[in-house]
Amino acid sequence: MFASEGNFYARWRSHCRAADFLHDESNPPAERLLQAIWQHQRIRRDGLQTSASAALRVLHPGFASAGGGPDFCGAVIQFAGEAPRSGDVEIDLRAANWRAHGHDRNPRFQNVLLHVVWDDAPPAANGPAVLSLKNILDAPLAELGLALESEPSDVLPEALRGQCSAPLRDLESGPLAALLRQAATVRFENKAAQFRARARGAGWEQTLWENLFRALGYRHNAWPMQTLAESRSRWMPADAAPFALQARLLGLSGLLPPDLTRTRRGADTYVRRIWDSWWRERDTFSDCALPRAVWTFHGLRPANHPQRRLALAAHWLASANLLQKLESWGVSDLPDRALPRSLLEILQIGRDDFWSWHWTFQSPRLKRPQPLLGASRVTDLAVNVVLPWLWIRAGAGGNAALQKQIERRYFAWPPAGDNSVLRLARQRLLGATRRRVLQTAAAQQGLIQIVRDFCARSNALCRQCRFPELARDFVASEKKFETGSTVANA
Ligand code: SF4
Repeated sequence: MFASEGNFYARWRSHCRAADFLHDESNPPAERLLQAIWQHQRIRRDGLQTSASAALRVLHPGFASAGGGPDFCGAVIQFAGEAPRSGDVEIDLRAANWRAHGHDRNPRFQNVLLHVVWDDAPPAANGPAVLSLKNILDAPLAELGLALESEPSDVLPEALRGQCSAPLRDLESGPLAALLRQAATVRFENKAAQFRARARGAGWEQTLWENLFRALGYRHNAWPMQTLAESRSRWMPADAAPFALQARLLGLSGLLPPDLTRTRRGADTYVRRIWDSWWRERDTFSDCALPRAVWTFHGLRPANHPQRRLALAAHWLASANLLQKLESWGVSDLPDRALPRSLLEILQIGRDDFWSWHWTFQSPRLKRPQPLLGASRVTDLAVNVVLPWLWIRAGAGGNAALQKQIERRYFAWPPAGDNSVLRLARQRLLGATRRRVLQTAAAQQGLIQIVRDFCARSNALCRQCRFPELARDFVASEKKFETGSTVANA
């Protein structure tokens, strides 16, 4: 018996919401509710069976994915007579949607182990095993709807937190920040060491360009962007205007549309001009051209489309003194709070006749011009490229004072925008309440480093992960330090 049962608020809430969850055979629940049921495992977990009557155990439901592809990634499922397997889970209302939604042809769904559906139809031919939720819920659907509707879909239930979250909870904010700072230092120095290794063969300037391009590729297109930059000495003219460089880069990338839209005059005029320039030189540069197939577009926001990023890179390349500006910025005497804006001023470009008004070749003209570079991208460029490059260069030149200044900037830089890696890491490792410790970009970088070093080498069950041990040792060393200080101060 719950105290809230006779409660006025609870009665009204349930009265208002009940209609949303009433359903019959012809009116199945919303897919979002099925996802919440799966994430919170509100099912009778004993004796689960696929629609082909094979027993299975859900050892971990996986993590809700935000970037397109299957709904849950990294689930751990054990089918009868098999060892546990890690893979993805797709949630759908009907088993037939596997084919109807084209998952059977989509390479991003290749790793799906289980298709979780509402109905109890058999699996599609060559499709994954199917688990029907309809008859295995642990409470009536209306009750589940009320219980889960206010749970944000991207919040990880407490029971699914990582094994390190307990020892990390024992750390006060100060020591936790210190641990993240140490991990962030490792990340920064690793990047810098990579830059130094590349610079030995390619030179400092080329190393900077390759990594600027790579950062512009974001997560999905880092490699094609870097590959284009690697052949820069082949295609970079001694002197060229932004438009000529855009034509060359877009042509080299394989991202030029083969046809005109025939409906958007502005876009067609621009595409025609680009092709006029590119067709004359494409044979000359065929050895460094890329096929369109190397680019990833799925789950990409239009603002991050590689066509747009290449247009921005063309402006940077056409500006003869970008490097000098970055170097001067590195040695300048700026207060910490002025850092992001001052770097944005260097990297932002003036208005582009086409790209300030269009996200991509195909998109309609925007009502208002949009900058080609946003503030959050500047933070990514700063912590991943500009600062480590300036730091290792200063180190190579024996300038320890400048290295200190760059380090200070790195640790003072305000946080970047949230992303799916950070969101999940925060919840798995820190729990939603400890967001305060991520108040700098470096703290975020530290958390990402822990994910790369530990989560990426383990699975959703934290199998054989040694980070909890590291965290416990860190807690113990902090306590020892505190005791030592207290005794010393007594
Ligand atoms: S894999 Fe390791 S670092 Fe990642 S959440 Fe689990 S215990 Fe923590």
